[in-house]
Amino acid sequence: MTYDPANIFARIVRGELPCHKVYEDEATLAFMDIMPQADCHTLIVPKDAGTGIVDTPVAALQAAIATTQKVAAAVKKATGAPGVMVVQLNGAEAGQTVFHLHFHVIPRWEGLQLKFHARGMEDPEVLKANAARVRAALG
Ligand code: AMP
Repeated sequence: MTYDPANIFARIVRGELPCHKVYEDEATLAFMDIMPQADCHTLIVPKDAGTGIVDTPVAALQAAIATTQKVAAAVKKATGAPGVMVVQLNGAEAGQTVFHLHFHVIPRWEGLQLKFHARGMEDPEVLKANAARVRAALG
């Protein structure tokens, strides 16, 4: 699959579509997943991305994983979750639905069932509040 620069995350990176931003630096952007599998489910994208891990430049992957580490710590702090799951899907067959490389950070608690992947839009006010919680934890 070739990278489509009109994909949703590319448009968010360019500021053409809104997002609930939690972090940005010159190489990466992190924002709330609008169909979260758990509260404070956050996505991290490199700005210079391919569709997935194989076609994304190594420097962009390095920047994205460094931001993912920061965000994972902040999501744990913001939610008090004892566990955090980092997920990155490649290809429709693997469940990928947006073809601009991204990492998911999802807080986990024992016994808490995750919601379905990419289904069920969250209330924008909840996303706004959760983004503020993660931003505050990032310091
Ligand atoms: P994946 O299936 O790994 O490609 O994940 C794509 C994720 O993007 C899913 O978890 C969706 O809920 C999420 N998503 C789709 N559109 C948006 C959007 N406009 N803003 C934030 N998250 C989105």
